[in-house]
Amino acid sequence: MSHNPTIAVVGSGPIGSAYARVLLESLPDARVVMFEAGPQLTERPGESVRNIPDPEAKARAREMSQGPQAGSFRESLGIPESTVTEGMFTARQGTHLIDFGGDGSGHAPTFPAAAAATNVGGQGAHWTCATPSPAFSEKVPFIPDDEWEELIGRAKELLHVQSAAFADSGVGAGIRSLLEEEFAGELPEGYGVGTLPVAGDPQPDGSMRWAGADVVLGPLIDPASPLSARFELRDLSLVRRVELDGNRATGVTVEDLRTRTTSFIPADLVVVAADAFRSPQLLWASGIRPRALGHYLTEHPVVISTVALDAEKMCRFVTEGELDAELARRALNPADPVAAVNRIPFSEPGHPFSLQVMYAETPPFPMDPEAPLANNRWGYVNMGFGMRKRPRYEDAVTFDDGELDYRGFPNMTIAYELSEDELAEIDSATQRLRRAGKALGEFVAEPRLMPNGSSLHYQGTLRMGSNDDGASVADPWSRVWGHEGLVVGGNALIPTATTMNPTLMSVAIAVRGARKAAEALRAAH
Ligand code: FAD
Repeated sequence: MSHNPTIAVVGSGPIGSAYARVLLESLPDARVVMFEAGPQLTERPGESVRNIPDPEAKARAREMSQGPQAGSFRESLGIPESTVTEGMFTARQGTHLIDFGGDGSGHAPTFPAAAAATNVGGQGAHWTCATPSPAFSEKVPFIPDDEWEELIGRAKELLHVQSAAFADSGVGAGIRSLLEEEFAGELPEGYGVGTLPVAGDPQPDGSMRWAGADVVLGPLIDPASPLSARFELRDLSLVRRVELDGNRATGVTVEDLRTRTTSFIPADLVVVAADAFRSPQLLWASGIRPRALGHYLTEHPVVISTVALDAEKMCRFVTEGELDAELARRALNPADPVAAVNRIPFSEPGHPFSLQVMYAETPPFPMDPEAPLANNRWGYVNMGFGMRKRPRYEDAVTFDDGELDYRGFPNMTIAYELSEDELAEIDSATQRLRRAGKALGEFVAEPRLMPNGSSLHYQGTLRMGSNDDGASVADPWSRVWGHEGLVVGGNALIPTATTMNPTLMSVAIAVRGARKAAEALRAAH
């Protein structure tokens, strides 16, 4: 008997949101219920907290996203008070460490900076919004190029990607000219120094309204759109299990963290987009345990530095008047630290790294006002390389049924190691970072390799593959091998070694999965 299909989406980040949007736009009778373990932070669901103008409100929104490390908000978020011990190492604002060290903490001694965000919009409420596209071997080898280009195009629309953000910044252009002098001769055509695409909407005053899951949801959260009547977002709702009848997903069991009541919500399709650690954990807890689940963990290692821009060097390309204009524009929005964003993208064979160069008028850390490069009139760049990590079975998050975490899920242990090849590429990128620093000015923070997990871009743990050979969890349309009505989404699907920010790529993969799922639901109903 036919009925209007219900789709349960687990996780409200950009990927769950992309599924909700594409499915509702494709299926006129479908209904989407989205479950999010964390709280809603902004009136408009999923908005970037960077858009919150009041510094106190912004700090509160970040703290509320920090799950077990959410300080005074923990209990109101349905997280036991006992989970944190004072004085522990904390993660980047808005995120919480997997290995936070309190009761029920995960174990990640070799991947210590692993972090997540628990709030409506997920990490997408806190992200930097850099949206490069994968290139060469970073791309998924079994998705045809012409289809891929179209998927990336749709993903850019969903995320409001601007290819020419800050293109009119004189300082940004000066930085590009200096980097070009240093590197242009060794980079292939089309992959030289350029601006980095970012996700957001430039405002008339020159500031940015940064994109979050809100722009991906778009009409679904616009009461004037008929699509909004078929979309429901439930915050503080923790999905405990995906329920199965044989190999078919039948719905989800959800705990309302406000009332502590648990209920079963039947669904024709379950989409799990709960990040690269918690999605595989949820599948594991649901008894869905393919060999590759949690394995092939990668990220791009990160080496970063901060440079004070040198007046003499910059003056060869930028006038003092252009600098004054830039500073006046920036003063309009002092709460937003990011100005011009440049890059050198990944290319093969000669440049298998991604360089990201962010200009800001202040350094990202307090500097002694007496230090020679403090209060540098030309400002600073924070820049770093992302490098490759090849997928290996041994690098993995595994789950222990005998030890529950602070939420009562089989606890996580992460094992991870960089190989000789990877360390050699890191060395080579570090040398280039030194050259870039010299070309632009003087280091105020020397290049350093960040601890494993620092990228916040965790991949491979729900790897997609072209066949079910035990080295992948999902098929080329993100369907869990051997299951019906169950798709997975997120950076965890990415099967390749990448060096860049992955969200655009993951949204493109999600668009493909959502279109295929819509076809199947249309055929069945
Ligand atoms: P997430 O955004 O992580 O959302 C997953 C959601 O699922 C979370 O809200 C979580 O609470 C929820 N959830 C988990 N388990 C359950 C459950 N059992 N039940 C219900 N809900 C659950 N990427 C880029 O491409 N470019 C950048 O510049 C960039 N900068 C970043 C900067 C920072 C500070 C951070 C934190 C991230 C950055 N990222 C960046 C990464 C980017 O934010 C992620 O790639 C993106 O958010 C992933 O989307 P997602 O929907 O897969 O997962």
